[in-house]
Amino acid sequence: MNKRCRNFLAEAEQTAFDPKHQRTIRHNLAKYHAAFDSGKLRYTNLELSKLKVSDYKRDAINQLDKYLKQFVDNAVANQIDVHFAETKLEARTFINQIVEEFKIKTVVKSKSMLSEELELNHFLAELGVTPYETDLGEFIVQTAGERPYHLLTPAMHKSKEDVARLFSTHFGTPADASAVESSAFARGFLRQKYVNADLGISGANFLIADSGAIGLTENEGNGLMTTAFPKVHLIIAGIEKVVPSFDALPDILPVLAQHGTGQAVTAYNSVIFGSRTFTEVDGPEKTILLLLDNGRNKLLSEDVQFSALSCIRCGACLNFCPVYQHIGGYTYGSVYGGPIGSIISLYIEDKEKFEHLAFACSLCGRCAEVCPAKINLPELMLQNRADSVCSNDNLTGKLIANFSSWILMQKWLTNLGKSKFFYLFVKGLLSKYWGKRRAFPEFHKQD
Ligand code: SF4
Repeated sequence: MNKRCRNFLAEAEQTAFDPKHQRTIRHNLAKYHAAFDSGKLRYTNLELSKLKVSDYKRDAINQLDKYLKQFVDNAVANQIDVHFAETKLEARTFINQIVEEFKIKTVVKSKSMLSEELELNHFLAELGVTPYETDLGEFIVQTAGERPYHLLTPAMHKSKEDVARLFSTHFGTPADASAVESSAFARGFLRQKYVNADLGISGANFLIADSGAIGLTENEGNGLMTTAFPKVHLIIAGIEKVVPSFDALPDILPVLAQHGTGQAVTAYNSVIFGSRTFTEVDGPEKTILLLLDNGRNKLLSEDVQFSALSCIRCGACLNFCPVYQHIGGYTYGSVYGGPIGSIISLYIEDKEKFEHLAFACSLCGRCAEVCPAKINLPELMLQNRADSVCSNDNLTGKLIANFSSWILMQKWLTNLGKSKFFYLFVKGLLSKYWGKRRAFPEFHKQD
C-alpha cells in the first residue's frame, strides 16, 4: 500500500467517525433525498427522460470533433472570441494575457468547477487580482479558505451555524445569524462587487453546437449578474460540454435540475450569444471563450472510460454513493469527488496521484442506477482498477492480483479455511489490510 493510499484511508477514517461532520452531511443529504423523491413524482417515465439526456450526450461525445467545430464556427460568427488551451499551464498563460490586456484588478466569478481545476483563485491572487466567488456556497468556502466540498453544493459540509460563525469572524456579522440573515449579508456584500468588477468569469453548462451559444443554469441569479455587469466576460469550459442542438435543452434541463436538487427546473437558465449588441443596454462589451482539454482528449481515447465525458455534473452519484456519504468530499483529494471524480480525476488531474480512488468503491451500483446520463460508473471504475493493476509500473499490484486469483482458484486451499488453525493464520496475515472495523469473513467450504 503506497503513501497516498494510506493517507486516503487515514482521512476517510477520520471523516467517517467524526460525529459533527457526519451529522451535517446526513442532514443536508436527507433534505436532498426528500426533494429528489418528491421531484420524481412529476415524471411518468423518468427512465425515458434519462435515456433522451444520455442519447444527446453520447451523440455529442461520439462525434465530438464534428460538434466542437460546428460550435466554434457558430460562436465565432456570434463575435465570441474563441481560444483553446491544451493544458492547465496554457490556460493560465492565456488568462494572464487577459489580465494584462484589460488591466484587470477585480473579478467576479460564478460557479465553475473548471476554475477549480485551474486553481484560478490562487493564480489570480498571484497576479494581484482579487477574485470574488458569487455563488453562495462558493462564497462560503472561499471565505473559509477551503475548496468546494461537492461539485454542485460546495458548502454541503457546513451547517447554518458554521456559516454564521464564519461570517461573524470575517465580516463581524452576528454569530447567531439565521440562514436568511447570512444569505442577505452575502447578497449585499457581493452586489457592489458586480458593479465594480473589471472581469466576469463563468463556466458553461452547455456549448450549443447548432447556435454557437453558451447555456448557463443556476439558482441564484449570480451567474446572470457575473456575465452581464462587467465589461469583459470570460467563459471557461471543458470541451465535453458540447450538446448537438438547442433542441436538447428542454430535455436536459429538467432532468439536470431533478438530479441536482429535485427541482422541476433550475431558477435561472440563460443562453448567451455573445457580447451586447447595439440595441441592448446590458451585457459585456467583449466575450471571450476558453475551451480546455486538460486530459479530456486522453479520456476520450479510452475504450471504456470515455463515456464519463457524458457527465452533466448533476452531483446525484455523489449524493447516493455510500462511500461519499461516509468519507465526504475532501478525502478524495481531487477537485472532483465521489464516483465520477474517482474516474475522471485520473485523466483530468493526475493518474498516479488518484489511481487508488478506483478502489474507493463498494461497486453497489447505486450511482449507475441514478445517473441521468446513464453512465455505467461501476464498469468504468472496474476498468480503472484493471488498468491500475496491469500498468507496467505497478508490479506489486500485478503480483498480488495474480497471486490472489491463483489462490481463489485452488479449491483444496480455500477448503483448508475450515480448519481453525489455517483460518487464524490467514486472518493474522491479512486482517490489517481488511480493516480493523470490519469483521473478517468466514471461509465457506466449496463443494
Ligand atoms: S456521473 Fe451521472 S450522476 Fe454523476 S454527476 Fe455525472 S451525470 Fe450526475
